[in-house]
Amino acid sequence: MQIARVALDVPLATLFDYFLAENMTVVEGQRVLVPFGRKQVVGIVLALSDTTELAPERIKAVEQVLEDVPPLPAELLKLLKFCSDYYHHPVGMTVLSALPTRLRGCQPVSLKQVLSYHLSLNGQVLDLTSLPKRKAVQLRLLTALQNNVLSTAQVRAISPTAPAALKLLIEAGWVETTAEHAKQQKFSFNEAHQLTQEQQTAVDAVNQALGYQTFLLHGITGSGKTEVYVHLLHQVLQRGGQVLLLVPEINLTPQLEYYFRSRFPDTELVSLHSGLSEGERTQNWLLAQAGQARIILGTRLAVFTPLPELALIIVDEEHDASFKQQDGLRYSARDVAIFRANGRGVPIVLGSATPSLESYYNARSGRYTLLKLGQRASALAQLPSVRCINISNALLPEGISKELLTALGECLLRGEQSLVFINRRGYAPVLMCTACGWLSDCPHCAGKMVLHLNDRRLRCHHCGYQTRVPYGCPTCGNADLQPVGIGTQRIETVLQTHFPEARVLRVDRDSTRNKGTWNAMRQQIQDEAVDILVGTQMLAKGHDFHNLTLVCVLNPDNALYSADFRASEKLFAQLAQVAGRAGRGDKPGEVLVQTSFPDHPLFRALREHDYDSWAATLLTEREQAGFPPFVFQVLLRAEGKQEEEVYNFMQQARSHAADLAMQVEIYGVVPAAMPRRANHIRVHLLVQSDTRKNLQQFVRSWRPQLEALPARNIRWSLDIDPLEF
Ligand SMILES: [Zn+2]
Ligand SMILES: [Zn+2]
Repeated sequence: MQIARVALDVPLATLFDYFLAENMTVVEGQRVLVPFGRKQVVGIVLALSDTTELAPERIKAVEQVLEDVPPLPAELLKLLKFCSDYYHHPVGMTVLSALPTRLRGCQPVSLKQVLSYHLSLNGQVLDLTSLPKRKAVQLRLLTALQNNVLSTAQVRAISPTAPAALKLLIEAGWVETTAEHAKQQKFSFNEAHQLTQEQQTAVDAVNQALGYQTFLLHGITGSGKTEVYVHLLHQVLQRGGQVLLLVPEINLTPQLEYYFRSRFPDTELVSLHSGLSEGERTQNWLLAQAGQARIILGTRLAVFTPLPELALIIVDEEHDASFKQQDGLRYSARDVAIFRANGRGVPIVLGSATPSLESYYNARSGRYTLLKLGQRASALAQLPSVRCINISNALLPEGISKELLTALGECLLRGEQSLVFINRRGYAPVLMCTACGWLSDCPHCAGKMVLHLNDRRLRCHHCGYQTRVPYGCPTCGNADLQPVGIGTQRIETVLQTHFPEARVLRVDRDSTRNKGTWNAMRQQIQDEAVDILVGTQMLAKGHDFHNLTLVCVLNPDNALYSADFRASEKLFAQLAQVAGRAGRGDKPGEVLVQTSFPDHPLFRALREHDYDSWAATLLTEREQAGFPPFVFQVLLRAEGKQEEEVYNFMQQARSHAADLAMQVEIYGVVPAAMPRRANHIRVHLLVQSDTRKNLQQFVRSWRPQLEALPARNIRWSLDIDPLEF
């Protein structure tokens, strides 16, 4: 009897055995439909065997072998098994989570035929001069179609709005589609830029890599990392390979997508991120699996895409914390990408202006190859000058110092754009009663509710609870409730009052909630229909606004003395990134930082654009304190409604850990940084070791003990290489 060992989406660290009927053939990696409890579910065959440990009468049969899509390749299965093992997550859940949702269901899916577009008879006789000039994209499409049949990729390379324009042309009866396989595959590349010497050196180094090698591309903001990527892509695409390019934010994908399409107009590019519809995501995944898509641009989940011709992986902004998934399979897409490159024997490039200390340390110690871009790519663009404004003795009820207002006023007069950066949305972080000291605590969390003045509500940013702003103090009835502290909405109001003639635009999660809003705003900024931008870290990343010359940073000080040992690393990365928005065109940029600690080494390094000395300082601190990258950590988190139950569970977990007497250091059971969220008490326990191997050995022994502990009302999880505490 042949047995299929199947991975199912259930929280058990095991595979499930099913027998195969005589007439059934199946291979590893194939999807099958099997009975589970009273349901039918889709699983993936991970192994085939002649034997099973179960009694024959207990084994059920595979009901159907799904053959709508090709099986997952062995390389990907190996990667997923590694992730299950390393991150201590059930194997079935790990494997199934890598599939687009549609492939986890039993409805058959198929790769849609590639369409190509040509002019209809009516379209061929159309007089283009008779069309209104404002329909520019339609005109460009029609002109391109006069000489050629276009593929979907070529249509998209014409303009981000070309697919919509094309739809109108089809409806008008001027363009027709053909379903026959567009076997165009001619390859073109818009050279556009001459590489600088530094860029060329970096491109050559990666191109010369034989097999697996990790490169850290450390390039200051504006040094043209993207151009290096483009040239690397060019080489790989010419050889017929596929490139996986990971980016931290969905927000960055549309502009990058359009940029790469315009540079490689005939190449099939797909994006993979959670902002796509299920249908789109499935099609893009299938295009990648079929080898048709050559450039795969995606957020962290794209690291698990099957790629038969994978020849290069690029992780852009590799330091970004969003590469780490914070629930379910708590993986770091950057680390998984490195493992994948190693397994496939292909080079991987980690790019950043402010590398994570882990990567930087690996580059310094020779495990990674360091490539440096120390100059801005455009000869005219200089690094901005950075200046601190000491506010230790200033009272700033509205959050902005006189010097900042003056600088903003001068920038306005010059007709240039400025950006005011504050990483806190809402109007004020807390509302206070001036009579009794009442504060707007969240009733369900240990945090405060944030005042949102636009719709007069108090909102908890941790659990989502919200309520109307009360007319009087809930405790003493006093009507004088005052906002304390500043958020983006308040700064927007203050600036509007100070500069009534200026066009102020606020960009944060609240103002960009609706789909498409952020794209429209970015266009507004490009078109210089905005004078002052107020925003959170959304504005810090990757954007290139040519008339932006002044960046003002408010309130960065909290992170300087935070309990989180990574806070200052993150702050430096964030400030370097936001500072890098200034002066990208041909005008010099200036960055002003309001702080009470202008002499702090972080600001000194920022002023001198000296990442290396800052990183050296941090590494020394980390080594002395025994923190990563010098040690390896696992965090056990638990939460529950009853404080006693949670602590009981954790104390037992801790004593089991201690009894194992292995080469690890076990810390105490302590409250999480947010000790209560949505009425759940949150506690954690940190264990660390000098080597990855010792830590993994320890977790392998510890985990079965944790699973055996009574934990009826408790949710717990293990986080390997945790970033948040
Ligand atoms: Zn009161
Ligand atoms: Zn809350």
